[in-house]
Amino acid sequence: MNVSVVLFTSDLRVHDHPPLRAALGPGNETVPLFVRDPAVDRAGFAAPNRLAFLADCLAGLDSGLRERGGRLVVRSGDPVAEVCAVVRQTDADEVHMAAGCSAFALHREQRLRSALEADGRRLYVHDGVVTALPAGAVTPSGSDHFAVFTPYFRRWSGERLREPLAPPQEVRVPGGIRSEALPARAAVASVSEGLATGGEREGRQRLADWLGEYADGYEEGHDDLPGDATSRLSPYIHFGAVSAAEAVHRARSRGGAGAEAFVRQLCWRDFQYQLLAARPGAAARDYRTRADRWRRGKAAEADLLAWKQGRTGYPVVDAAMRQLAHEGWMPGRGRLLAASFLTKTLYIDWRAGARHFLDLLVDGDVANNQLNWQWVAGTGTDSRPNRVLNPVIQGKRYDPDGAYVRRWVPELAGLPGPSVHEPWRLAGPERARYDYPDPLVGLPEGLARFRRARGKDGP
Ligand SMILES: Cc1cc2nc3c(=O)[nH]c(=O)nc-3n(C[C@H](O)[C@H](O)[C@H](O)COP(=O)(O)OP(=O)(O)OC[C@H]3O[C@@H](n4cnc5c(N)ncnc54)[C@H](O)[C@@H]3O)c2cc1C
Repeated sequence: MNVSVVLFTSDLRVHDHPPLRAALGPGNETVPLFVRDPAVDRAGFAAPNRLAFLADCLAGLDSGLRERGGRLVVRSGDPVAEVCAVVRQTDADEVHMAAGCSAFALHREQRLRSALEADGRRLYVHDGVVTALPAGAVTPSGSDHFAVFTPYFRRWSGERLREPLAPPQEVRVPGGIRSEALPARAAVASVSEGLATGGEREGRQRLADWLGEYADGYEEGHDDLPGDATSRLSPYIHFGAVSAAEAVHRARSRGGAGAEAFVRQLCWRDFQYQLLAARPGAAARDYRTRADRWRRGKAAEADLLAWKQGRTGYPVVDAAMRQLAHEGWMPGRGRLLAASFLTKTLYIDWRAGARHFLDLLVDGDVANNQLNWQWVAGTGTDSRPNRVLNPVIQGKRYDPDGAYVRRWVPELAGLPGPSVHEPWRLAGPERARYDYPDPLVGLPEGLARFRRARGKDGP
């Protein structure tokens, strides 16, 4: 009887799971293992919203395995030590896992490979599990990664993705393997009140509902803030409860402009992963330096705090920040506005904003968070690094009637229509009725400061 171990990381599902399928030969036994690594917590990634969602996803994975006769084994500790302990106990000869893209994941993979090989066992690392197309599968001539999205999208679209795999029919786990109790969502403190429920079942249902009923409106409506017309699949994809490759396949077979636009967004996700895999340092350092001397000191700290609290005086920015606090999630347009406001209008270091997002976002991940922040800050891959989003114009465009602002900034709920985007225009006594701050900085002043700092008036 062969025994193998499947180490789950960011791939918490039984559908379309290449490592699990590869481990399950006829008559084989398998240990599905998840290791809660304290190094992840120490590195500042143990945000309550993600821990709560993770607990849901682990519970979902455990039920998916139990429906097939197996169960999930959960341990805490160094993943290399824990995998090796299970390997020794079961005399497993193979370990299977998904390829990761961050420096952390690559280091873990190397350590695990060395430890297993030293003991005469093999590690199989499967590509295209976390991303739709493996990072590095396509490269431009003369470079190890694409730095521009459009040519990447062209190449990515021409590649054949592997076919999605059906879930296994049976998972046989050897007896006598100790597991900790699954972490419970209820035991996590400080979780956002409106946090979504995680898990493979919920994620698959959302994908099916969204493709079935809502995808048609996506191309037109994805930036419509009150319309809430995006898929909200990002947390499920982040934890791997929904497979990115399967989502692409299913959207393509559904067809239509909305589904195609959705596929393009999934390609953005792969784009950021291939960039991080090639330049792991971009998680913390400018991908392209603009020699910024970001504001520091007391005034900058006060502005950062007001931004975090959703009290910048710019209603659409504040609405987005409050949605983030309440749900642990924000629509893409809200993220762009909030990040542009912090890095350009307030001229505060993108790392401070990215840190706050990582503290709250249920889908927060190194590739998509840090590199999207860099894109907005102009230190990343945006070809127009000095563009600044005007929160009033953007508010009126993507929240024309002001419904999004009124939903999230209740102090302004009494202001009708688009006037909610400019409360400072109200006449004195009427303005005084609203307990809402004045803008932290005037937009022309913020813009001029940013342009001076970047040494240009460029586009
Ligand atoms: C400053 C900033 C920080 C961000 N941080 C994260 C993050 O930590 N984690 C994260 O998953 N996304 C992040 N994004 C990307 C994007 O905003 C979210 O993925 C998206 O808003 C999630 O909502 P949705 O699932 O409804 O997306 P949809 O519009 O329905 O898109 C479908 C899927 O495509 C992917 N996607 C969409 N837009 C992007 C994008 N710009 N970059 C990469 N992937 C994308 C996501 O997996 C998403 O679920 C960030 C964007 C910005 C501007």
